[in-house]
Amino acid sequence: MKRIVILGASGSIGRNALAVIESLGPEFQAVGLGARGDWRCIAEQARAHRVRHVALADPAAAEALERAEPHLLVRRGPDALERLAAEVESEIVLSAVSGAAGLGPTLAAIGAGRDVALANKESLVMAGSVVTRAAREMGVRILPVDSEHSAIFQSLRAGARDEVLRIILTASGGPFRTRDRAALAAVTPDEALRHPTWRMGPKVTIDSATLMNKALEVIEARWLFDLEPDQVSVLIHPQSIVHSLVEYRDGSLIAQLGIPDMRLPIQYAFTYPERRALPDARCDLARIGRLEFFPPDDDRFPALRLARRALEMGGTGGAVLNGANEVAVETFLAGLAPFPRIWEVTARVLDAHRPVPDPTLPDILEADRWARLRAREML
Ligand code: MG
Repeated sequence: MKRIVILGASGSIGRNALAVIESLGPEFQAVGLGARGDWRCIAEQARAHRVRHVALADPAAAEALERAEPHLLVRRGPDALERLAAEVESEIVLSAVSGAAGLGPTLAAIGAGRDVALANKESLVMAGSVVTRAAREMGVRILPVDSEHSAIFQSLRAGARDEVLRIILTASGGPFRTRDRAALAAVTPDEALRHPTWRMGPKVTIDSATLMNKALEVIEARWLFDLEPDQVSVLIHPQSIVHSLVEYRDGSLIAQLGIPDMRLPIQYAFTYPERRALPDARCDLARIGRLEFFPPDDDRFPALRLARRALEMGGTGGAVLNGANEVAVETFLAGLAPFPRIWEVTARVLDAHRPVPDPTLPDILEADRWARLRAREML
């Protein structure tokens, strides 16, 4: 029996996770549901999955939920998700809150000795050294849910660690892969929210369009798999069928392929080291026909360069990259900044930062606060 707490239950990963739990049958059970404020969704999910422990960060939403469903045990307030992760007995905590808000709950789950299925890449981008050290000390596993990292995790089972030359993260290239620089300046939020292959929440969809998502994933991979920054490379693959690859020293490339469907990596994190059946997930390569690969274009899409710079900086560099980008994306989505400003502002904030080496959690939170402030001033 695996009991699972889902943080970010009302989001796209959370909903998929509940579908996976449903189809896996009675050995897997959701035992806690947390979200920011969508209490109607949580009420419905709690009823459907017979969950009693819930958490809402927004106190007004928590109150509404308590009134509507008086039998639920509702945790509320800014640390509600942390308490849910730590207090409810479980084998796995799925950390699927969007953005920097996921860091605290991820650390709370690790601190309570729970294995973490990690969809919130920001936890590692901002605080990779702190999070991986805590996981080592507590003897808990971080199981990747990000599809690329799940593919690497699976492909690493084909060889020993000292046989790995590098890993190759694939990227769809987003909806603007073939646009020239001038056309990128005219991109609207609506266009950017239409991803060609993946259906995801708004923040990660914009990050996919700028390639910032891949930049964050480079940093995530560096920490998750304990690699040198130059061992993580990126390859554009518009079909999103090859989810990523590991290159071994004999020249072999071991990859994981599958349809672009988040249920696959979510389920693998839940059932690891086993594989279970997954409905409607077969991948028919004869029908897909063509798989293409291109090098990323750093001049049109400078996000990967920013990731390299943040990694060279080390310390609080990742937190600053992430914080500045989150503010820039919000501003773009509100229609208040053109698309290329996301890169410009993030680059300028990163340039202005003096990194703290080997940072503590307070150093990281301070760097995040500083980066957001600077980004807002510039925007
Ligand atoms: Mg991904």
